[in-house]
Amino acid sequence: MTKSYEIVDHTYDVVVVGAGGAGLRATLGLAEAGLKTACVTKVFPTRSHTVAAQGGVSASLGNMGEDDWRWHMYDTVKGSDWLGDQDAIEYMVREAAPAILELEHYGMPFSRTEDGRIYQRPFGGMTTHYGEGIAQRTCAAADRTGHAMLHTLYQQSLREHAEFFIEYFALDLIMEDGSCRGLMAWNLDDGTIHRFRAQMVIIATGGYGRVYFSCTGAHTQTGDGNAMVAR
Ligand SMILES: Cc1cc2nc3c(=O)[nH]c(=O)nc-3n(C[C@H](O)[C@H](O)[C@H](O)COP(=O)(O)OP(=O)(O)OC[C@H]3O[C@@H](n4cnc5c(N)ncnc54)[C@H](O)[C@@H]3O)c2cc1C
Repeated sequence: MTKSYEIVDHTYDVVVVGAGGAGLRATLGLAEAGLKTACVTKVFPTRSHTVAAQGGVSASLGNMGEDDWRWHMYDTVKGSDWLGDQDAIEYMVREAAPAILELEHYGMPFSRTEDGRIYQRPFGGMTTHYGEGIAQRTCAAADRTGHAMLHTLYQQSLREHAEFFIEYFALDLIMEDGSCRGLMAWNLDDGTIHRFRAQMVIIATGGYGRVYFSCTGAHTQTGDGNAMVAR
């Protein structure tokens, strides 16, 4: 860098890039574990694309009828046109139910059934008995599930003292002997350049159109809904 740029230095245990559902959940977990955690995001956390998700998030809780994680797995493998990593799919559908209950306990305001359980709606591609029936598997907070999720995770992250760098644009990763040791970011507000040093960098910058890489349930585009560790 030339001397005409002022570089502001920061040091953290972990830096997460992105504050959508994936980035905020990673940020929260790291801060909860006691790590000095920064989250760098080019938009305000609750304006991340996750806010647009209206339908809901699927898990075989069985609150609205019979359900089984194996049926959810079948639907997800089929929904990915058999391109998804089936080990990852199995992990996701098995962990989906505890993840939803965890969100509930973090305070996410799910819609409710008459008897007070999390409401689940029928949603695209969700079946019972391996394609035979229609599953009500998709847990919803009215028509603003992603909005509710972002607010819940952002508030919990603040509670755990995660530090947010909002409207900072990640420009480049700092690589050292083949390992990622941080990143460079541009503060969109005042134009300053920031150097974040960290033991680990997690990239959760959302999807990348038409690139099929790893399984994320109904969405198989690269990164969508996932946090990836840069090594
Ligand atoms: C209209 C719509 C409806 C949807 N409905 C559903 C649904 O009902 N159910 C469902 O499961 N899924 C749904 N999806 C898909 C789902 O919303 C996404 O898969 C998911 O929200 C992706 O989350 P994410 O955390 O990976 O990314 P995002 O929420 O896109 O977050 C990406 C983050 O990365 C940050 N970022 C990116 N680049 C940089 C950079 N260079 N520097 C700094 N920060 C950066 C952004 O600021 C942002 O905070 C829907 C999607 C859309 C568009």
